[in-house]
Amino acid sequence: MRHASRALRGARWRASGPERRFHGLRACAALTFTSNHPLIMRTTFGLVAAALTVGAWASPLVAQDANPAPNRREGEGPFDKLIIRGATLIDGAGGPPRGPVDIVIEKNRISQVVDVGFPNLPIDQSRRPKGPAREIQAEGMYVMPGFIDLHVHTCGKPKAPDAEYCYKLWLAHGVTTVRGVPLGGFEWSLSETKRANANEITAPRMVNCQRPGSGRGWGAKPILTEEDARAWTRWAKEQGVDCLKVGAHDPNVMRGLMDEAKKLGMGSTAHLQQLGVGNMNAADAATLGLGAVTHFYGIFESMYENNDIQPYPDTYNYNDEQWRFGQVARQWNLVKPGSEKWNAFLKHLKANNVTLDPTMTTYMSGRDLMKRRNADWHEQFTLPSLWDFYTPNRENHGAYFFNWTTWDEVAWKKFYQVWMEFIQDYKNMGGRVTPSTDAGFIYNTYGFSYIEELENFQEAGFHPLEVIRSATQHAAEELNKANGKPIDMGIVRTGMLADLVIAPENPVANFKTLYGSGFQRLNDKTGKVERVGGVRYTIKDGIVYDAKKLLADVAAMVDKQKKERGISKLPVAAFVPNQ
Ligand SMILES: [Zn+2]
Repeated sequence: MRHASRALRGARWRASGPERRFHGLRACAALTFTSNHPLIMRTTFGLVAAALTVGAWASPLVAQDANPAPNRREGEGPFDKLIIRGATLIDGAGGPPRGPVDIVIEKNRISQVVDVGFPNLPIDQSRRPKGPAREIQAEGMYVMPGFIDLHVHTCGKPKAPDAEYCYKLWLAHGVTTVRGVPLGGFEWSLSETKRANANEITAPRMVNCQRPGSGRGWGAKPILTEEDARAWTRWAKEQGVDCLKVGAHDPNVMRGLMDEAKKLGMGSTAHLQQLGVGNMNAADAATLGLGAVTHFYGIFESMYENNDIQPYPDTYNYNDEQWRFGQVARQWNLVKPGSEKWNAFLKHLKANNVTLDPTMTTYMSGRDLMKRRNADWHEQFTLPSLWDFYTPNRENHGAYFFNWTTWDEVAWKKFYQVWMEFIQDYKNMGGRVTPSTDAGFIYNTYGFSYIEELENFQEAGFHPLEVIRSATQHAAEELNKANGKPIDMGIVRTGMLADLVIAPENPVANFKTLYGSGFQRLNDKTGKVERVGGVRYTIKDGIVYDAKKLLADVAAMVDKQKKERGISKLPVAAFVPNQ
């Protein structure tokens, strides 16, 4: 029985011999061959359930789509010529900081990057590119490529009714491109993507991934066979969808999706959810051509030392989210860092050019709930309706802190150590790892969570320059991997799109200074604590956005909602002494 179920697993590591080899497609063929076997029936049933759940959990498809953003009122440009003067440049390609430089932008492209002198000496005026031009005086400031977030969903009703709220928080934190997985409902996503990419709205560039079977025009036909998978992928491409967000599908369905996506030049990213991972872990999905593994699901399962399925406690129930999110962290000691399986799996991912998109920020509340709930930015920038959604509740996805204990946090702390070690090893062998957020759940507010993810990368062992390269060049490469085109963003270099972040503090010294709520520092001259930092300007497609102004708009949206509710603070359960 156990042996049979192993054979049905789709791709598994062969344990025999010193060199473990991969037999993914052969195992999948076995699945087709024995399709009248009772185990398959059970498997098929499981997969239908899984498919429904992929559609339902965390999905803006269930919640209502947000109000589309209003037509753009913010931002200046693009300009015939814009010159950023005297900045220190962090190019995104891993080059060390250098400056002062002048960066010339013509319309929406970078046309020149010019060294104009030396630190601590007056700038050599003769070297400077000439106007007439619109200028940004950026002496003492830092310029980076715009950040790319490869895992987002937009706002949605009721938690954050206006898309503008998310868009402004993203831009205010330097995020100039987002990959929606999905952004929202199928038709809504197509429309907002078009408007964002034409700069009709104040929003980052958008790349639109959709889930198999979605789209009103598809007619809700379930994706059960390889042919269904191929047909939907072709249909989605015709509708203008850019890429696929997949789950842990049945191996035949996954093969159809991946193969067809590859033919059409469409990328893919997978959340290999626990309901389906028994038949499709990350090693299996990599074999079939998956582009990116998002979160950690399917990764640990690909290298368990003594298990094949996670050994859940006997009272476990996936639909009880405290079980779901509490137990998943208990995988940390089922794998062995540096083991043969660990290394073989890393090599397998690398050989298949898989990107890891961990979204570490998504799960941070699991390891320190108090910190997350009391983060500096909530009061000013988290909408009360979003706060309601975060607050423990058995129905809202990610609101699972019914009775969150020291045990739970310790498990997550251990889990992060192993997870981070894996990510660090993958980066060091040349693998691509990208920061992204999946914000809007679990005390994880849009924009702020991106900066938190940069900090997580540093904690994993990345040097800040490696972190920035992950956020820019590597993320851009992931977006273009499937279509084979060279990247035209993600590096500050002549010819690239003018997507840039300008910040007053040095991010290499301290990522915390990029939070929109600023960074608290003691001013020794005055003896007072002050808040410094934040992004100053975000440039997308040659259009200059004042990041502080965008944040002020968001703060006003939060204020307005509080006034409508007649509250002055976000509601929390108070402890009343002597009762
Ligand atoms: Zn997500």
